[in-house]
Amino acid sequence: MDEHLPWHDPLWQQVQQRRAADRLPHALLLAGPTGLGKLMFARRLAQALLCESPAAEGNACGQCRSCRLFRAGSHPDYSVVQPEDEQKSGEGDLSTGDTGSSKKKKSKVIKIDQIRDLCAFLGYTAQYGGYKIALLEPADQLNVNAANSLLKTLEEPPGTCLLLLVAARPARLPATVRSRCQLIRFDRPSVALALPWLTARIGSDLNPAMMLDVAGGSPLVALSYAEGDRWRRRRELAESYDQTLTGRLDPILAAEAWTQGDLAENLRWLIGWHTDLIRLRMNAVDQPIPQGLKPMNPEPPRLSHPDLRPLLRRWAARPAPRVLFERLDAAVRLHTLCTTAQVNAPLLLEAFLSEAADG
Ligand SMILES: [Zn+2]
Repeated sequence: MDEHLPWHDPLWQQVQQRRAADRLPHALLLAGPTGLGKLMFARRLAQALLCESPAAEGNACGQCRSCRLFRAGSHPDYSVVQPEDEQKSGEGDLSTGDTGSSKKKKSKVIKIDQIRDLCAFLGYTAQYGGYKIALLEPADQLNVNAANSLLKTLEEPPGTCLLLLVAARPARLPATVRSRCQLIRFDRPSVALALPWLTARIGSDLNPAMMLDVAGGSPLVALSYAEGDRWRRRRELAESYDQTLTGRLDPILAAEAWTQGDLAENLRWLIGWHTDLIRLRMNAVDQPIPQGLKPMNPEPPRLSHPDLRPLLRRWAARPAPRVLFERLDAAVRLHTLCTTAQVNAPLLLEAFLSEAADG
């Protein structure tokens, strides 16, 4: 996707003003929630700074030699550092239900060797005589040694270089790194700005307002729901969970449905629903009010999955609050285990679903 996102405009203008005043720092930290296009902004800025004849508002022209090289991913003065692909050892692991379809896994961290290579790259003179630009993404996955190794470059940046650090969780970066970067903060755009943008891309049949709501206001997350059958699958999983809880679907069969598609995403749905269940259960509307106290909040609670409210209400009605908290913990644990360890996901899911059905 190579477009300008409307909620980036004020940030873009700020950066361009600094550029015009010759006050661009050597390191920018682009921080904010997932789904706002921080990476797109960083790429746009990198291309614009390398462009040989920038167009209006400081944007790249898209035509010059530099822009063509950039788009081809082969600009000699631009380097991208991301966690490298690692080959998982062994064939498909039957015990995890992994049929071997996706063996290439991203390693979790940016390592020191990558930063050493990067520092060497920045040390050379720019081939086209302009900026040397490095993009680190996600920068919050620098491991400790890599972050330390980056410090010297941040303290004494060589020549005209710019480091762009993109991070959804900037607090994970060492303070020493953060304090040497200028912060560009990305916030979720208003619905008035995000909704027309989203509707123009997915049409109105899919209920973009609801998608945006479920995405917590992050337009690119909402857009990703429209890809493939993710939105429909979420609904199907909710129906399947309902059947499990009411004893109409065997947990063993239900577990199969959960492991199909993107397991990590399916489990994120599960966690989101349980957070909503607690919101519903703890809501003052359902609780007796002690004498002398005013009713707290007569409004029904705001949910992350408002379109599933009737189902969620039903699921929240019976179990004690303690049980709902335990189930949320279990769902979070399940997600952590299934996304970070070699485990038998169907078996763990089956255990979770059986317990939920019994509760
Ligand atoms: Zn250009």
